[in-house]
Amino acid sequence: MTVDQVIQLRCQCNNYPWGRKGEASAAARYCAQTPGTDFKIEQGKEYAEMWMGTYPVLPSYSLKTNEDLQDILDANQEQLIGGPVLKKFGSKLPYLPKILSIDKALPLQIHPDKDLAQRLHEKNPDQFTDPNHKPEIAVALGKFEVFVGWKPLNVIQALFQLKPLQRFLPEKHTHFDNNSLKSIAKTILATSDETIAQTQNELLALPKASFGTESHIPELLPRLQQQYSKQDNGNIVALCLMNYLVLNAGDSIYVPADGIHAYLSGDIVECMARSNNVLNTGFCPRPDRDSVELFSAALTFGPHSADDSILPAKPSDKSINGKSSVYAPPMSEFNMLTTQLKEGEKEDLKPINGPGIMIVTSGSGTMSTNRKDHELKEGYVFFIGQGLELSFKSEKGLATYMAYVEG
Ligand SMILES: [Zn+2]
Repeated sequence: MTVDQVIQLRCQCNNYPWGRKGEASAAARYCAQTPGTDFKIEQGKEYAEMWMGTYPVLPSYSLKTNEDLQDILDANQEQLIGGPVLKKFGSKLPYLPKILSIDKALPLQIHPDKDLAQRLHEKNPDQFTDPNHKPEIAVALGKFEVFVGWKPLNVIQALFQLKPLQRFLPEKHTHFDNNSLKSIAKTILATSDETIAQTQNELLALPKASFGTESHIPELLPRLQQQYSKQDNGNIVALCLMNYLVLNAGDSIYVPADGIHAYLSGDIVECMARSNNVLNTGFCPRPDRDSVELFSAALTFGPHSADDSILPAKPSDKSINGKSSVYAPPMSEFNMLTTQLKEGEKEDLKPINGPGIMIVTSGSGTMSTNRKDHELKEGYVFFIGQGLELSFKSEKGLATYMAYVEG
């Protein structure tokens, strides 16, 4: 008997405290849509991330057979993954898509590059479970607020002329460059709770006009203080050094390995290279923070503006009817294809020469292969084996996102 090429999945959700609560969490609503699931949404409980795929922390299972998806892939490598991807990445999916439902700021974080990841993994495999890098993309499903990358140097330089921020400037700074920025970031992260709180009080006492183009700083500061505390170094790093972006449905950012980021609110589809490594600082209690030395040493200085972080969708060469576009980050582990159909519309996709994981984020319809029709509903998740022609038909509208890789 040959294995099914399309496998509907049962996925799981975690409960980090920054997650949206109860029905407000898309991650929870999608999990609860799985046919036959015993997953019940509890009001007041946080639901942060739904993971789709084969990462062992929160793996997905075949809805029909209840087998771990990785076991199915291992037993049917050629048929489901295909030679070229197997040769390049082996039988473990090189990507990990998630739905994130964000109620308040995630820890300010970076994911180490391959080099540092390898060293950290050797030294401390319990905390750093992967020797791999973890660049990621985040696609907004609605309004999505995010801190990502560094402000341009001239903006930072001007901002740090404000009296309350001058205490973080390096002593000798005749020339303001990335080393100055690194020094400022490190100083803020190492500053005492009292001084951090005092700096914020002083910032809030300034007239709004003194922030120039960065007028969101005094607007957002009270909100961040309420989420964590007035003592949190992350408040100052995020607001005074990083870009603040407000994205709308379909907008996307790319965070390279070592890129600093903190997501603030919204429902998103996220996809990353297969890794779970993270260095945290800020927007989390002190005991949960990694060392300032380690964090600062891993910092890189791209992207250096809001525009550098945006990853625009492009028309997909898999699309036959022009209803699909692709987010293609500058890395080889995955692309993200999205198909958006209005009522009654259709889309056909040319075969993808590698494995895919697809979620229906809204609407309903059918997905047909040459063998079978599959019902599509909001929250349904499928593994899609390599080499399949797919035909989509929407009922009242349909939106899908599929992470995939080709060899
Ligand atoms: Zn991240």
